[in-house]
Amino acid sequence: MSAKIPAWCTAAVLWLMSASAFAQGLPEAAPSGDRAQASQGAAAAPRRTARNERSSSRRRGRRPPSLSVGFANGGALANGVALREDHLVRHLPGRPHHHGTEELVALIRRAASAVARDFAGSRLTVGDLSDHDGGPIGHHASHQSGRDVDLAFYVTDARSRPMHVNDYISFNGQGRPIAGGNVRFDVARNWSLVSALLDDPAVRVEHIFVSTPLRALLLEHARAIHARPMLLVRAQLVLHQPVRALPHSNHFHVRIACPDGDAQCVEGVRPRPRPRSRARVASARQPRGRATAAPRSRRGH
Ligand SMILES: [Zn+2]
Repeated sequence: MSAKIPAWCTAAVLWLMSASAFAQGLPEAAPSGDRAQASQGAAAAPRRTARNERSSSRRRGRRPPSLSVGFANGGALANGVALREDHLVRHLPGRPHHHGTEELVALIRRAASAVARDFAGSRLTVGDLSDHDGGPIGHHASHQSGRDVDLAFYVTDARSRPMHVNDYISFNGQGRPIAGGNVRFDVARNWSLVSALLDDPAVRVEHIFVSTPLRALLLEHARAIHARPMLLVRAQLVLHQPVRALPHSNHFHVRIACPDGDAQCVEGVRPRPRPRSRARVASARQPRGRATAAPRSRRGH
C-alpha cells in the first residue's frame, strides 16, 4: 500500500530544497536593496505586479519566490520573507512571528512608508505575521500561510503627540482607551494606513478586521477629508468586524488575497466542524447525559 502525499506538500518540499540551494551566502529573509527601494518608492514607480516582481527575481537568481500554501487557518508558508525592523517598522514586543509572503512584507513596508510621507517620523508597529514555515501559532486561528498580519494602531498622547505602544490597546468609538488612560486612537494616521493598504499598486487586500465603532470612526474621517469615492466604497467593503472572533478593537488584522502564481494558496477559511457533529460526539461520549456544545473559544485571527 502506498502512502498518498498531497500535491501542495510535494510543491512545498521542492521549493524548500531549492531555497536551501539558493541561500548559500545570502541573508535568508532580508529583502534585497533594490527590492526594498522599489517597495518604499512604489507610489512613484511604474505599476509593478507581483507576477513581474517574481519573474525578475527569478531572472536575477536571488531567491525563490515565497509560496502561500493552503488556507490562512490551515496551511503553510514556503520561502517566507522576514519583516525586519527599521526607521519605518518596529515589532510589537512579545509577538515573535515575522515571516510572510514577499507580497505581504512588501505591502507592509510600502504602507508604512506612505504613512511616514504623510506624517513625518511615523513608524508602524507590527505584531505577528506567520512562523518561518507557516502552520499554527499561538494566539491565532489563522496566520498560517503568510498572508495575515496584525498591525497596532497609530496612537497619540492626550495632546495629540504621536507615541508608540508596547502592547495592543483597545479603543471605543470615540477613540478613547476602553480601559481608560491618556492614549488616543490617531484617526488621521490610521486612515492614512488603511488607504495606503487599499491603494497598493501590486497587492490586493482581502479584508481588514477592525471593530465596528472604530470602522465608523475611520469612515467618518474619510468622508470629512473627501476621500475618493471609490476608495471609500472599497474601505466600506474591506473593513469589518469579524464574526465568531474578538472584535478587533485593539489592532487591525490584515489579510491579503492569494498572490499571483501561488497555485496551492486557497482564499476563504477552512470550514470548522459543524456544531451538530460536535454535539453528536459529546452525546456519544456521554450516553446517559445531555449533550452540550463545547464552549466556542474567541481567539484572535
Ligand atoms: Zn490577526
